[in-house]
Amino acid sequence: MTLTETTAHSEKLASLLKTHFGFDSFLPMQEEIINHVLGGGDGLALMPTGGGKSLCYQLPALALGGLTLVVSPLIALMKDQVDGLKANGVPAEFLNSSLSSAEAGRVRAQAVRGALKVLYIAPERLATPGFGGFLRALNVSLLAIDEAHCISEWGHDFRPEYRNLKVLRNDRPGVPMLALTATATPRVRDDIVSQLELREPRTFLSSFNRPNLVYRVEPKDKTFDRLLGLLRSRRGESAIVYCFSRRETEQVAADLRANQINALPYHAGLEDVVRRETQEQFIRDEVQVIAATVAFGMGIDKPDVRLIVHYAFPKTVEGYYQETGRAGRDGLPSECVLFYSYGDKYNHDYFINRIEDASEREKAELKLRQIIDFCQSADCRRRSVLRYFGEQWSEENCGACDVCMAADDQMDATVITQKILSAVIRTGERFGAGYVIDVLRGSRSSKVIERRHDRLTVHGIARDHSVGELKHIIAQLTARGLLALAPSDYPIYQVTQDGRDFLRDRKKLTLARPRMPQPAPTDSREGDLEYDSSLFQKLRELRKRTASAKGVPPYQVFGDKTLQQMAYYYPQSRDAFSRISGVGEAKLGEYGESFLRAIRDYAVLHQLHERPIPQSARRERRSARALSQNYLSTRDLLRQGLSIEDVAKQRSLTKGSVISHMEHLVEAGEEFDISEWLPPLERRLSIEAAFRQLGSDLLAPVHDHLGDNYSYEEIRLVRLHLAQQQSGG
Ligand code: ADP
Ligand code: ZN
Repeated sequence: MTLTETTAHSEKLASLLKTHFGFDSFLPMQEEIINHVLGGGDGLALMPTGGGKSLCYQLPALALGGLTLVVSPLIALMKDQVDGLKANGVPAEFLNSSLSSAEAGRVRAQAVRGALKVLYIAPERLATPGFGGFLRALNVSLLAIDEAHCISEWGHDFRPEYRNLKVLRNDRPGVPMLALTATATPRVRDDIVSQLELREPRTFLSSFNRPNLVYRVEPKDKTFDRLLGLLRSRRGESAIVYCFSRRETEQVAADLRANQINALPYHAGLEDVVRRETQEQFIRDEVQVIAATVAFGMGIDKPDVRLIVHYAFPKTVEGYYQETGRAGRDGLPSECVLFYSYGDKYNHDYFINRIEDASEREKAELKLRQIIDFCQSADCRRRSVLRYFGEQWSEENCGACDVCMAADDQMDATVITQKILSAVIRTGERFGAGYVIDVLRGSRSSKVIERRHDRLTVHGIARDHSVGELKHIIAQLTARGLLALAPSDYPIYQVTQDGRDFLRDRKKLTLARPRMPQPAPTDSREGDLEYDSSLFQKLRELRKRTASAKGVPPYQVFGDKTLQQMAYYYPQSRDAFSRISGVGEAKLGEYGESFLRAIRDYAVLHQLHERPIPQSARRERRSARALSQNYLSTRDLLRQGLSIEDVAKQRSLTKGSVISHMEHLVEAGEEFDISEWLPPLERRLSIEAAFRQLGSDLLAPVHDHLGDNYSYEEIRLVRLHLAQQQSGG
């Protein structure tokens, strides 16, 4: 490709990305994968959960003519993906055992007619009689194999039906095949390539690091209180608490409910209907917390789970990575907390000892030792997990795990410790932490004055520390044995012998810097916006109402990140609204009015103004180019009344290029009358009808629908005319 062609190509992708998905830029690897697939090559994409795998075949599906066939093993996820695509104006359907035969027949007919861009199928369909014939009737341009590790016996989720996929490949030698997975050891990787018979595949391996997740391992101590604290600081946000046993899920959920936290249990022992309903309620944001066994999570793709808690440590590091991986798929900061107690090992042992096959049992024992090592290690959690999967993490300090945050936060505590110990001694070792802190901070409360503690030399010597910091330091000094609680009914502090030695010998001491309970995680995908949280809450409520009226999950209306942007920029016009990340054309049309109204009302009430919304670099480049001399020359010739053909001849361009100049000019707000170049009325009307019927302004599906009797040029002119009419009101 020449440079201009490359630019035109990447602009086309960028425009599909914004129009249909509402995004301004690609996530790491997406563009490379998409380009490789569009170039006709086979590929294997290894990306972590939340890495944005779906887009790697959904966007090519739009760019290519014909149909993209997606094989996926999880029925619930298929429906979710298809609903998501439809919400973005992409004609998509699925075929699996949840459909009646009449419904399946309808979908098949649509596929054969060429009315679909994406069709999801369950692998077991491939073996059903007559399916081969149906497949051969389709104009397939891309094969995508989701959860491709299911094809390997070495993976954790082997599905024999996946072995049927070879047939697909053999039937369509010329069609590119893209395999995708979030879990693959080198052995599984090789297996995928050979089982699918991928041809000279390129492997795309993205880092398995999840930068928006904070990892913590904490001692299992006052665990329920700590859990309550975590959940209370995240009111209204989705969380999963993984428990060891069914009984524990019931217990934790009940205890949470007793503390006014909306929680439900989930485990394999519940009736199907109950489990399904629980899952649904979680997805619809009607229940916030699920206390679950590991059975929960396989079939859900909720992007806005903000907290994953392991109430007991899981049995493998893989399990830990997979379960914590369900947090923050949307890239927003989320947290994973594991409560560790060595004693939980005995519960695991009980099950491991019942494994009959000796080598399986040894494998399980090894894995258990590895997760225990992980929990007890003083090495960065992120580095440990990635190393387990064979990935090098070179940064010294990840800044977002308990180990690194503690190391980050060491401080020389010698002087403050001297001050605290002295204050405890000078006030007579008769008080609790609160009172000692009052004195240290120079309080003039009546109690301090009455006791004449305002006259002590220690009065006010720690004014520069907050109450919280001092409490935190006192707790650490107690843990280190410099302070102790007196044997009394009241929490009275005394200085121990070690404490006195510390003062007398002028020893040095480093302690962890006191942290606020929820340090803000760093390094989220787009940086954290200081958004207006009360507008955010209002928009979330509107989203929930809208979603339940439409019968879709709230996250399919708009994701949290999109709402946060709205609550930061306060967009006031459709144009501004459409520039928010996550707002594509279909959603602008469907939800734009009601969300804009809510934002405007709020802005008026609080006298707030719209903030300028930056366009992505790519899109700015395009509008700048739109004004370049190249386009202006075309415009001037057209305005002189030359036909498209004549302009093309005079400027040595193809007709298609002239039309594409016209498209850029119209988009940049230039006005001119194109009505004389439109096809005859009858043809024009059928083209317009096709655009309306397909609910998309993509050319390929419309062209496919109309047949070769219609040229791309006339379809583009009609589309341009429609765009002019829309913007002209
Ligand atoms: P995976 O299947 O790899 O776990 P998904 O395809 O579900 O990941 O995508 C994860 C999240 O990232 C989704 O919320 C999706 O909307 C979002 N996403 C995907 N591509 C982009 C992009 N280019 N820009 C912003 N968000 C994206
Ligand atoms: Zn770390």
